[in-house]
Amino acid sequence: MRVLLAAPRGYCAGVEMALGALDATLERHGAPVHCYHQIVHNRHLVAHYEARGVIFVDTVDEVPAGGVLVFSAHGVSPAVRAQAAARGLTVIDATCPLVHKVHAEARRYARRGDTIVYVGHAGHDEAVGVTGEAPDAVRLVEREQDVARLVVPDPSRVVYLTQTTLSVDDTRQVLVALRRRFPQLQAPSQEDICYATQNRQEAVRRLAAQADVALVVGSVNSSNSKRLCEVAASQGARAYLFDTPAEIDPTWLADAETVVLTAGASAPESLVEETLAWLVARFGATVERHVLLEEDVHFNLPPEIRAPAPAPARSS
Ligand code: SF4
Repeated sequence: MRVLLAAPRGYCAGVEMALGALDATLERHGAPVHCYHQIVHNRHLVAHYEARGVIFVDTVDEVPAGGVLVFSAHGVSPAVRAQAAARGLTVIDATCPLVHKVHAEARRYARRGDTIVYVGHAGHDEAVGVTGEAPDAVRLVEREQDVARLVVPDPSRVVYLTQTTLSVDDTRQVLVALRRRFPQLQAPSQEDICYATQNRQEAVRRLAAQADVALVVGSVNSSNSKRLCEVAASQGARAYLFDTPAEIDPTWLADAETVVLTAGASAPESLVEETLAWLVARFGATVERHVLLEEDVHFNLPPEIRAPAPAPARSS
């Protein structure tokens, strides 16, 4: 068996920053620290942080008065920010800056009176946060077929935004349908599908074309990981998503001569290494590393946690 190890894979700059922010918050404030939804969509990491005293919550009301609340990498709606402020919580905002950018665009377009067609997945944390910026102005579209059903007040004032982790190919089809329906459709100032999503998809697309099977390390609720499976499948590979190598069913690999291995943006590299070791031990696999490009993106920690902690009050 040949294993084609795709790169870039795994952690993106937004995930590195969000995990760094949670680590720094634990260090500064001590456990328990609350986190609004999963810090990133990965089961392994959620269990790791729960063991260190992080409590993941679905509502702000679950955080006790005086508590510390971290917003996850996927961002939150203004309503959630307002609830946290009203309760006087200490907030650390670990939203990825590339998600913040989409929020800012939603606010700007809504202010100037446009209808915003948001291409994304209903119920995903990122989609909930962005649509919450301007609920009256935003229309959510998941797939091409949804475009025909859109009702907008002025078809000449429509702009689109997209979730950062979509499939580049699927989104292209939705945009074609949108342009057909709204010829004056406006685009965001900059592409919203983020660099990490695009790079991971392109790396796996090139390799999957030569592979029988694609193995994607990631959790089922990770949007970008699921898209990696779809991209690999579109190239003819049998694609499987799993959290840890213990979940791999050896029958997936029956007769597989060439396997492409990648990981979603929230999947730790240690799990990729474990998977490789398992493939070598079980199938005598040889590993080839394929680097599409080197990424050089870094985001600073949120200012709330970057600044030095206040000095303890001195008693006289
Ligand atoms: Fe940010 Fe992209 Fe990573 Fe999402 S996948 S956290 S948008 S860098």
